[in-house]
Amino acid sequence: MSLIRIENVHKSFGDLAVLNGVSLDIEEGEIVTIIGRSGSGKSTLLRCINGLEKVQSGEIWADGVQVNDPATNLRLLRQRLGIVFQSYNLFPHLTVERNITLAPQVVQKRAAADVRQVAVDVLRQVGLESKIDAYPIQLSGGQQQRVAIARSLAMAPKVMLLDEITSALDPELIGDVLKVLEDLARQGMTMVLVTHEMGFARRVSSQVVFMHEGRVWESGPPDRIFTKPETPELATFIQSVL
Ligand code: ADP
Ligand code: MG
Repeated sequence: MSLIRIENVHKSFGDLAVLNGVSLDIEEGEIVTIIGRSGSGKSTLLRCINGLEKVQSGEIWADGVQVNDPATNLRLLRQRLGIVFQSYNLFPHLTVERNITLAPQVVQKRAAADVRQVAVDVLRQVGLESKIDAYPIQLSGGQQQRVAIARSLAMAPKVMLLDEITSALDPELIGDVLKVLEDLARQGMTMVLVTHEMGFARRVSSQVVFMHEGRVWESGPPDRIFTKPETPELATFIQSVL
């Protein structure tokens, strides 16, 4: 079975249908980028994958667990599905180390000595081991976002869900964050990311998913999606972003 399987998912907010029958399979080790206009349902889809939003119908499976089964322990599942948002939401009153070690200690009940080493390891992965004792305000936006990625990695997730994590950053800070994602990709981390960084999507994705009006309008390998769109909607979108 695929690591993530989404089958005919429908989701609305009140009268507003946001996902209109989305199906998608994501295999272990894949880098799937989701592209599409604002309002097409990209964030909602990511949030449904880790159960932050309930779906009206259809099925979502992640790492062998049915996300939309009421009996599923979502807290446990979410430890295996890291999610990082545009707003990195670090705790301002805690050091980088505490931001990273809090969840492993409180949620996973790991020992203080263990989690210090975890913090060192994940900070090395994002190139910020020297900032372990800093407070968020002492870091640039790009560095804070890298700490947010490290905080997710500290839970040893099977999949990383990343929602426009570079969109709030100054242009000169975006590259460092994308480089961290490329390193993770090389190490085999499965990632599902919503992004406007088309160059990155084209270079790194195994599969690109174009969402339009709450549907997977087109999906396929990056070269095909970016050079041979099959629908006028995708062609128009690509023209607008390149
Ligand atoms: P995208 O990430 O592609 O921009 P979203 O998934 O955020 O799109 O939103 C899809 C649609 O759902 C939009 O019309 C948005 O306004 C609406 N929407 C998203 N979240 C909510 C919510 N919690 N309540 C009501 N409407 C929402
Ligand atoms: Mg969004």
